[in-house]
Amino acid sequence: MADGEIAGKSKEGKNMKKRILTGDRPTGKLHLGHYVGSLKNRVALQDQYETFLIVADLHTLTTKPEKKDTEKLEQNIRDQVLDYFSVGIDPGKGTVYIQSQIPEVAELALIFGMLTTVPRLERMPTLKEVMRDAELKIPSYGLLGYPVLQSADIMMVRADLVPVGKDQVSHLEITKEIARDFNRTYGEVFPVPEALIPEDIPLLPGTDGVRKMSKSAGNDIKLSNSSEEVEKKVMSMYTDPKRIHADDPGTVEGNPVFIYLDAFATESDKIQVTRYKDQYRKGQVGDIEVKKYLAKILNNFLDPIRKRRAEFEKQPELVDKILKEGTQKAREEAKKTLEEVKKAMKLDYFD
Ligand code: ATP
Ligand code: MG
Repeated sequence: MADGEIAGKSKEGKNMKKRILTGDRPTGKLHLGHYVGSLKNRVALQDQYETFLIVADLHTLTTKPEKKDTEKLEQNIRDQVLDYFSVGIDPGKGTVYIQSQIPEVAELALIFGMLTTVPRLERMPTLKEVMRDAELKIPSYGLLGYPVLQSADIMMVRADLVPVGKDQVSHLEITKEIARDFNRTYGEVFPVPEALIPEDIPLLPGTDGVRKMSKSAGNDIKLSNSSEEVEKKVMSMYTDPKRIHADDPGTVEGNPVFIYLDAFATESDKIQVTRYKDQYRKGQVGDIEVKKYLAKILNNFLDPIRKRRAEFEKQPELVDKILKEGTQKAREEAKKTLEEVKKAMKLDYFD
């Protein structure tokens, strides 16, 4: 990629990397679907961009506000950042921070709420989906305002780019509207962020082969699973339901075993994968043999991740330190942004 595409100039004329904001709600341990869907991309982007990685704990309250949920957050946050570092997110390159520890975000969200109409938020296509998934009949004020809070997260650190899946593009549209509206009304404060839509990555199916892999469906293989757990899950995977005997011709397309092989086989494994596909179609290889091979491929992929996790697990105080420092750094950014916001709005009474 050409430098010009990723670097901008600071006010002092220095070359600066463009900023990215990305993150997740801390709802539990991450799985292979998260890896192909977002983590892989984040690891790839961290060299070219200045990355802010938000652990969006306040966002979990939009659908899970009960104490039985909030009391899990601390452990979930630890599990999640361990997942980040294990897959190769480098704490030395980006800033990992906890949303709720930055009160300025809430203040900015409150201000942005004044620039956003209720019907605009009610029209969000994601609102209905989230309510359906969370089995909610009526949205809370907080859930309706989710895209406003997300806008505050993004603009607080003045992100230029936000990697989002296609389903999230509508959220970023609101963010852009708020940024433009703010700039027009009070003066240029915010860069208008752009969506960075990763190349079309289809959702990884779950081990049940029916739905996408997801935490709540019990059909996932976690990045933190042991090799025994991986093997057990793979051996009980759904394959081609029409195939009863090993010498029946089998279907490769849409078969999750082969989808995983395609996603996780290394270059040097690809010849063997092609051979198995060919044999499977002709009924020359049994499910058990292919599954054993898949378990090996997945464990080869997960081994370095496990190794890094073990290193970080040995040093819980280091993980705490990284999170504390990241949060401090993000908060400094937030304070600066909010100061400018108040100045632009003439709310800086005592300055
Ligand atoms: P839950 O079951 O609680 O909804 P989940 O496993 O579906 O959890 P989310 O937290 O909803 O995970 O997903 C966060 C992001 O991770 C998604 O926006 C998407 O980018 C990515 N992701 C999740 N599951 C998959 C998957 N199966 N394949 C590819 N990407 C995925
Ligand atoms: Mg989900």
